Amino acid sequence: EAKREGRNQFHLFRPAQKANAEKALKLASCLQRALEEEEFSLHYQPQIDIRTDRVIGVEALLRWRSEEIGMVSPGDFIPLAEETGAIVPIGEWVIRTALSEGRRWISPDREDFVISVNLSARQLKDPAFAAKLRSMLVLYQFPPANLCLEITESTMIGDVEQTLKVCEEIVDMGVALAIDDFGTGFSSLGLLSRFPFGTIKIDKSLIRDIETSSKDAAVIETIIRLSQHLEMDVLAEGVETEAQLVILKRLGCHEVQGYLCGRPSEPDAIDRLLKLDFAQGSDSAG
Ligand code: C2E
Ligand code: MG
Ligand code: MG
Ligand code: MG
Repeated sequence: EAKREGRNQFHLFRPAQKANAEKALKLASCLQRALEEEEFSLHYQPQIDIRTDRVIGVEALLRWRSEEIGMVSPGDFIPLAEETGAIVPIGEWVIRTALSEGRRWISPDREDFVISVNLSARQLKDPAFAAKLRSMLVLYQFPPANLCLEITESTMIGDVEQTLKVCEEIVDMGVALAIDDFGTGFSSLGLLSRFPFGTIKIDKSLIRDIETSSKDAAVIETIIRLSQHLEMDVLAEGVETEAQLVILKRLGCHEVQGYLCGRPSEPDAIDRLLKLDFAQGSDSAG
């Protein structure tokens, strides 16, 4: 009987499916405890202005080392945290940590330095979000203009008026907003101009083949022109090669982020990077 079952092709998938379901359950239960177990940390990836070669800011990226299952990438646990709602307290922890760790990178000689933090749709739907943000800024004495919140296109759809209202509250506070992963979603361009974005971040999937695909290059050029017309800054994500940098420069995109300029790193590494950056900056200033 067991043999006959073994020959049935549909049954071949069972053990794998069961293993996947068990894995997902395990992930969910570990994730639930991750905050109180203090398993999260933030890495920061530099953003560069290629006209001056200076670090203009960093993006905070969440890292989770689970005691039980080891390192889990955000691509695997963020969607789960969004599903369960755990992203709301986790996201609050991210903002708090980014403000307290990042405060020291803002100084008179680097007063335009911006710390970017990713925001999920669930956080924006929290009616208390703006008030929470305001009190965190006060608590850490963090200048609002030095914070940027990144949201994706999918966050804009749904209850547009409500989301727009929260976004306007954020911008009225002096905090900047960026649209992340631009070029991957399908929301209407009409919405883009209604939202108070300061920066458009071009998704890394569009940058990847920019050297070989004239179509991708055309799309990027169009996004750059669009950002200019809307008077928004434009930043290219996922820049990995010098050749990509040259093309972006030629097309008029001067802000980049990617492995070429720096991997996401621990706060200490950013301290060292900024010390070097400052030394360089004062050199070229005379
Ligand atoms: P994202 O916000 O678009 O962040 C950029 C991602 O691209 C990061 O992946 C970064 O490590 C990766 N990256 C940077 N430069 C390069 C490059 O040159 N090449 C390639 N191939 N990749 C590069 P990461 O850290 O795995 O994060 C993935 C996504 O998870 C983020 O995409 C963001 O959507 C989400 N995420 C990360 N941290 C948070 C958070 O604190 N809150 C929320 N809601 N989402 C987060
Ligand atoms: Mg981002
Ligand atoms: Mg992105
Ligand atoms: Mg930015």
